[in-house]
Order: sequence, then structure tokens, then C-alpha cells
Amino acid sequence: MGLGAGKFVERFDVVVIGAGGMGSAAAYYLAQDGRQVLLVEQFTVGHNRGSSHGGSRIIRHSYVEPEYATLAPHAFALWRQLQAESGVHRLLGDTGGLDFAPPDYPTLLGRMATLDNLGLPYRLYAQDDLARDYPQFRLPSGWVALHQADAGILSATRCVETLAAQAVKRGAVLREKSRVLAVQPDGAGVRVEIDGPAGRQRVLADRAVVAAGPWAGRFLDSLGITAGYAAPLRVTHQQLTYMEVFESARPLFAADRCPLYIGLPMPYFYGFSIWERPGQVKVAREVDGPAIDPDGERSVDANAVAEVEAWADETLVGVIPKAVSTEKCLYTLSPDGHFLIDRHPAHPQILLAAGFSGRGFKFVVTTGRLLADLAGSGPGDYSSPLWREIFRIDRFVTGQAQPSVDTANL
Ligand SMILES: Cc1cc2nc3c(=O)[nH]c(=O)nc-3n(C[C@H](O)[C@H](O)[C@H](O)COP(=O)(O)OP(=O)(O)OC[C@H]3O[C@@H](n4cnc5c(N)ncnc54)[C@H](O)[C@@H]3O)c2cc1C
Repeated sequence: MGLGAGKFVERFDVVVIGAGGMGSAAAYYLAQDGRQVLLVEQFTVGHNRGSSHGGSRIIRHSYVEPEYATLAPHAFALWRQLQAESGVHRLLGDTGGLDFAPPDYPTLLGRMATLDNLGLPYRLYAQDDLARDYPQFRLPSGWVALHQADAGILSATRCVETLAAQAVKRGAVLREKSRVLAVQPDGAGVRVEIDGPAGRQRVLADRAVVAAGPWAGRFLDSLGITAGYAAPLRVTHQQLTYMEVFESARPLFAADRCPLYIGLPMPYFYGFSIWERPGQVKVAREVDGPAIDPDGERSVDANAVAEVEAWADETLVGVIPKAVSTEKCLYTLSPDGHFLIDRHPAHPQILLAAGFSGRGFKFVVTTGRLLADLAGSGPGDYSSPLWREIFRIDRFVTGQAQPSVDTANL
């Protein structure tokens, strides 16, 4: 690897690869557990080339799969803890949330059934009631809206920056503009090759956590776990738009009056109250485009922007349905839509967290905590309350993989 003979080799308890949401959270909880942590990021914390940047992400309980619905209360609790401990305001905003759909739409019925089973509260709005309480929305005839008070907005970039800063405060070493070239087992530990501002460097550690987001596929390939264990991850380009709200309608789109919303039928549309930009709302549509290279250039899909504008024109009362700006982001889709969070099947000292399939941000904190739990326990120990069998990396060989039936990721 071009390392000079006798060059100083650093040692850590754990090396975390990637300081997006998942890696920053893992570093934070590992440092909290008293581990000596190195957090390595190829760009800088808060950069906008991956998946965890921007002003807003949805957090909610309403999922068809109980695995996620039961994880959500843990996520809310950990986000609130982080907010209190860091003193950073508006990491989490409690706006409530609305899911729009025809009354017999399977994802809607599935979400209601799961919320009923778990005793999580919600209210189903018929159109007239919705128009009275939330006149800023106009739904297609006959549609209903599932309202959850326990839903809100996470200020994504601010959350990641806070997690990384809190990790450093607790003793983690953060190395930015440093690309991990290879992670390899080295006896019971790991050897990590890094290319950074100081040149090439080799680090030894007891454990490695690979949280490389859209770049994770390369690590899965090089660690030999793509064939058989996990079919390839698919990275897709997503985009979102900002639109102006008429001055007179701004009170209705304020965070204390306007829940976040998801139109469930595919392709799903979603959006937020005024939050990160004064006088503007973020509105988006999922783009199911081709697989892309995360290092490639990405251009704006004008047709998809036009569709969001048409949808906003029909649905949002008081929003000027014209995109004033767009932003880009990447999804990393797993073959069944569920997360991959597990130990490497052959090298349990290497932990993997990938394939968050457009729905991972709310679970950044539970994933970070789970990774710290897995890193601190033995290979067969899955006793963490945050562990779910659907995260297993060997589910594709054991035939346990069940595609997600919840249509809207987020
Ligand atoms: C438009 C959009 C909307 C979304 N909305 C929601 C939502 O409303 N609710 C929700 O819960 N989720 C949502 N998500 C999904 C969520 O944001 C992601 O699941 C989550 O951010 C993934 O985080 P990550 O840490 O896995 O990836 P990333 O944030 O991309 O982090 C991976 C990091 O690893 C670094 N890295 C990669 N390779 C290397 C290397 N070799 N060396 C060093 N560093 C490396 C990268 O630079 C990057 O910083 C949305 C995603 C998008 C794109």
C-alpha cells in the first residue's frame, strides 16, 4: 500500500468508516461506552454528496412492519436525549404527521393495523374533517388521512454534525478528507488502510464499523459478502424542491400548524412545514431511476420537478407551485427494502450498516446504539433491544428475506 517501512501504526478499539448519520452515531455511542474510536470520513462532516445532508427528515411510528414501528419509540427517546445532552436546538421538531391515501390502500390499512396492535395512537381523518383542521391540504376525492401526533422533523445536517461533535467531545478522533482504501481482518482484529492529508496510513483496531452509505457496496464486494449473503445494493438519485408560500398562508404552514405529510400511493410525494428556510416549504417525490455511481455527476430531472409542481398545485393550498431551488441526495436500496446491520458472517470483528433504503435517518440513533451494542458483545449475542431479525445479513442465504410491503420509504 506504499506505507514506508517502520511508519508509525496507530491503534484504536474501533475504526468507524463514514461520518454520515450512521457512522457518526456509532462513533458517538462507542465513545460513550468508553471505546477509543477513530471516525474516518472521505469528505467533511455535513457534506452533501451522500444521504444524510439537508434540513429535514421524517420521523414517525406509522410503519406496516412492526419491526420499525417498535423501533421508533427508541429513536424518539434517543434523539431527545441527544438534544438535551448537546443543548443544540431544533434537532427534532414535533409537528405531527399525516399519511394520505385512498381508504382501502394496503399500506394505509397495514400501518393502521400495526399501530392498533401496538397501541400507538392515531386519528383517521375523513376529507371534511381534514379540510376543517388542516385547510392547507386538498386531497383527491374520497381520500383519507392518518394523523399521528408522535411524528416530526429531524434537522438532518445539524443532527449529524451534533453526533460527530459529541463523539469528539467524548474522546473520539475524527479524521476528515480521509478515504478508507481497505478494511481487512487481521487475526482477531482489523487492519484499515487510509489515504488522507498526511498520506497513506495503516490503522489497527479490535473492530471496524463500515457505515459507508452509497459507497458501502464496494466494501461488501471486497469483504466477499455480496455473493450469496446480500444481493447488490442499488444507489439511486433523489431530488427535492423548495417552494415559496404566499405571505397570507405562512401561518398555516408554520411548524406548529402544519404536520409533515406523505401521499402513500406510488410514486409517493411528501413534504414538510416551513422549517429550514423562512417562507419556503420542501416538497418532493420519490424518483425510481436507474442505479448510479455515487461518485458520478448528477443532473436535475426536470420531468420529476414538473410532477412535484403539478402535485403541489393540486394538493397544497397557499404554496406557489413553482420550484425555486432543488437539492440532490442518494438512496441506497437493499434488495428487500430492509436495513443490513450485522456482523460480517465470517469475520465478526467487522460490523456492517448499509442499505437504509430511503428510510434510515430516523433510525440513525438506534442504529448507532445497536452497532455499539454489537461491537461490545460476542458473535452470537443479539440481545440488544434494538436488534431486529430482518437486519440479518445472511437472510438472503437462509431464505428469510421478505420484501417490505410498506410502499413509502422515508
Ligand atoms: C431525498 C432523501 C430523503 C430522505 N428522507 C428520509 C426521511 O424522511 N426519513 C428517514 O428516516 N430517512 C430518510 N432518508 C434516508 C436517510 O437519509 C438515509 O437512510 C441515511 O441518511 C443513510 O445514512 P448513512 O450514514 O448510511 O449514509 P451517508 O449519510 O451517505 O454516510 C456514509 C458516509 O460514508 C462516507 N464514506 C463512504 N466511503 C468512504 C470511504 N471509503 N472512506 C471514508 N468515508 C467514506 C461518505 O462520504 C458518507 O459521509 C432520505 C434520503 C434521501 C436521499
